Amino acid sequence: MTTRDDKIIDIYRLLLGHFGPQGWWPAESTLEIILGAILTQAVAWKNVEKALESLKTNHKISIPAILNTPQDELAELIKPALYHRQKAKKVIIMMDFIDKNYHGDFELMFQEPMLKLRQELLALWGIGEETADSILLYAGNYPVFVVDTYTCRIFSRLGLVSEKISYGKMQGYLMERLPEEVPLYNEYHALLVALGANYCRKTTPLCSQCPLILICNYYEIMQEYTERSRTNDILGSGKGMHV
Ligand code: SF4
Repeated sequence: MTTRDDKIIDIYRLLLGHFGPQGWWPAESTLEIILGAILTQAVAWKNVEKALESLKTNHKISIPAILNTPQDELAELIKPALYHRQKAKKVIIMMDFIDKNYHGDFELMFQEPMLKLRQELLALWGIGEETADSILLYAGNYPVFVVDTYTCRIFSRLGLVSEKISYGKMQGYLMERLPEEVPLYNEYHALLVALGANYCRKTTPLCSQCPLILICNYYEIMQEYTERSRTNDILGSGKGMHV
């Protein structure tokens, strides 16, 4: 690995040492990765697994099978993924796009230059940057870093970026500092998800278990705040004792 920024690489190594390789993306085929990237919007992965299982059980795990299924019926099948009506529409639009533009051939689609394909995916209804980049990285093996709310929260708590950083700026920050390597982008995003889901929660993060505790700005501030409160309590409880 050619390093560009030791700190960002150190964070990666600490996460990898703690959580181990995540083996992403958990799917049996390119189609499953693409479906999973859409179905996982705003829900936990266990919901996606149930929705994918339902599609498999009902023999709807191919582009023609999905396009031959009425939208309402598809929505019922993916109900465990929540927001199922919207997601059924998104899935059909995506399948239709791949079918019409690339004859349903993923290999052909992923021969496109990354930026061109990214623009095409982003132009589809309901496909945002995180979904498009997940498809590009995990299904197409393009070197693009996937950003999500966990990424922004973790790097802002570490004191490296602003709390309200945009998707594009967060992505640029990391890609400028990391070697352009697909396996690294793949694993790093998965590790950030592991940290965000398990420890660096929105409220009450579990800092004592976190592998980044020694380099975390947020933790340091919280420690100082707790210490100051304790000191004030001690001083406050002493008032009036020496009258
Ligand atoms: S130490 Fe706490 S706030 Fe900092 S990254 Fe870890 S879990 Fe998040």
